[in-house]
Amino acid sequence: MPITHHNHANCTAELISRAELTCAKRGTRLTEQRKDVLSSVAESHSAVGAYEIIERMASAGVRPAPITIYRALDFLLDHDLVHKIESRNAYVACSGSHANNQPTLLICDKCGIVDEVIEPETNSSLQSTAATKHFAINKIVIELSGICNQCAVSS
Ligand SMILES: [Zn+2]
Ligand SMILES: [Zn+2]
Ligand SMILES: [Zn+2]
Repeated sequence: MPITHHNHANCTAELISRAELTCAKRGTRLTEQRKDVLSSVAESHSAVGAYEIIERMASAGVRPAPITIYRALDFLLDHDLVHKIESRNAYVACSGSHANNQPTLLICDKCGIVDEVIEPETNSSLQSTAATKHFAINKIVIELSGICNQCAVSS
């Protein structure tokens, strides 16, 4: 399904229920604060910076302190509910369930929409390459920047 032209309320509802399920499974708590941050990030499928998240939350009620946002984001990252886009220092809500696989992010330079794909072969190939170098991987980050299909057809 194209990431645009869809009922986005469904995405958000699905994400929130997945968040509740994930927290229940891990014995953690999706506090109101964490849920609010998650909803703010999930307002669109585009990358969003921490300060934009603060602005979104401020316009919906109380302006949260940056530290509160970063703590909530760490929690959400740890639970795979949001992904950090390292190349842009921004965040995006996870749009799929992928267990322990680190997704490859496809970032559109034009509209900012971030899609995610799972590339288990790429990840395991990187792991074996690193192993030959006796390099212990902490985290694999693969981010592709380019033009999404939607922008390509509309330009
Ligand atoms: Zn959506
Ligand atoms: Zn994801
Ligand atoms: Zn685009």
